Amino acid sequence: MNRVIPFVLGLLLLPFLHAAQQPNILFIFTDDHAAHAISAYGSKINTTPHMDRLAKEGMLFEKCYVSNAICGPSRAVILTGKYSHLNGFLKNQRQPFDGSQQTFPKLLRKVGYTTAVIGKWHLKSTPTGFDYFDVLIGQGPYYNPPMKTTDEEGKVITEKNTGYTTDIITDKALAWLKNDRKKDKPFMLMYQHKAPHRNWQPGPKHLTMFDGEDIPEPETLWDDYKGRTSAAGKQTMTIARHLNDNDLKLNQGPRNLTPEQRKVWEAAYGPKNEAFRKANLQGEALVKWKYQRYIKDYLRCVQSVDDNLGRVLDYLDETGLAKNTIVIYSSDQGWYLGDHGWYDKRWMYEESLVMPLLVRWPGVVKPGSRNSDIVSNLDFAETFLDIAGAKIPKDMQGTSILPLLKGQTPKDWRTHFYYHYYEFPGAHSVARHYGVTNGRHKLIYFYQNNEWELFDLGKDPNELSSVYGNSDYSKVQTDLLAELKRLRVQYKVPEKDPDSATKTPKPPKKKK
Ligand code: CA
Repeated sequence: MNRVIPFVLGLLLLPFLHAAQQPNILFIFTDDHAAHAISAYGSKINTTPHMDRLAKEGMLFEKCYVSNAICGPSRAVILTGKYSHLNGFLKNQRQPFDGSQQTFPKLLRKVGYTTAVIGKWHLKSTPTGFDYFDVLIGQGPYYNPPMKTTDEEGKVITEKNTGYTTDIITDKALAWLKNDRKKDKPFMLMYQHKAPHRNWQPGPKHLTMFDGEDIPEPETLWDDYKGRTSAAGKQTMTIARHLNDNDLKLNQGPRNLTPEQRKVWEAAYGPKNEAFRKANLQGEALVKWKYQRYIKDYLRCVQSVDDNLGRVLDYLDETGLAKNTIVIYSSDQGWYLGDHGWYDKRWMYEESLVMPLLVRWPGVVKPGSRNSDIVSNLDFAETFLDIAGAKIPKDMQGTSILPLLKGQTPKDWRTHFYYHYYEFPGAHSVARHYGVTNGRHKLIYFYQNNEWELFDLGKDPNELSSVYGNSDYSKVQTDLLAELKRLRVQYKVPEKDPDSATKTPKPPKKKK
């Protein structure tokens, strides 16, 4: 009898004990934030104290690879745990994300979580699977963003907001945490910024940050695109030729500013622009100026994200929530900080392939740890479900990184990663390509052009000279090709390009 009562009580309490153990999940996500613009990742151009704090108190992933380096598709992969060809969101396209499909927030709700998304959504659809949403419409502006949410009866409405978008999204995230979430349940909050997406309009607090300083130029600013296939030379994303007056703040600035905001904006850019016009720069000097203008505005936007992250981390500390909340910082892909002479993303090259990933989880993740296993945005959904104690559906294609967070990499962890980019023809004219990497070597196939590239990252970390067809690399090449074929089968990639919405241009005829 003495044994039976505690046993029965234990059984009755089991669901509650389980709930108590489920940690909160705070997923902090930015748009186009390159890992090499975070000081914990070794940035040479800025300092991000609050992101660094996450790295110091948690784990930094060195090889978190995006499966398709563009905004909407990365988000769709995260929600579904499936590659683009299966979740249907191949590119930043006109058709909305199919929100009727299985997503991790829906599955988290089933195991007792309350879920919310606040900030950038960028999937054209109305969010599904959330108890609460308050999202930017499309890309959303940097100032005074209208946002889509629901009223008390659940009707979708658009609300006006006044202020700087990065601050507003944070205010809303904090308000939800303080007032609106169901406090008897664990939460999963996707707190997602527009920043530092093009065209990098800084907030009023950072408009003059870096004035009078020279930001170091990347090693490959003057890349001539030799040593690779025709693809790298044919894009339209160079600092030298493809930034417009809006990007460079040489026009009137954001159109939707209030008179007060405009005054502050003009006080910051007016004198700088006047000096620029007087200098009448040409050639190399003009490119250098454009780089400085571009990178400073980008970093100013990042700084605002970091400041606001500080506000959120403070709130978690003050309330004691920090203890049982797993905090993740990531961005939808990497970005070119003038590397290869570029801005933007899309390529399978390292700068855009690598996503920042910082994870803090007190008592589970060893503070200050680093992981160099290959992980991906394909793994996020599975990881969140695993953390919550939910079953991971078999049709999800990634793997939970929970063991890695505990410092125990499984012996059969992935050694190779499959990548696929579809948006051509499209913005910035980056050819469609797929490829495979093992973290040291990378094989890329520009399939519309029937051109291959192979890189040895150990010897050529900037990926300037393809060694495809070089006899020294014949074994590497054969092995990677076999892996590429194997992964395409494993991930059910159709033989024919699955993007039927856009006509695939025929490859140029071979010269006889
Ligand atoms: Ca993006």
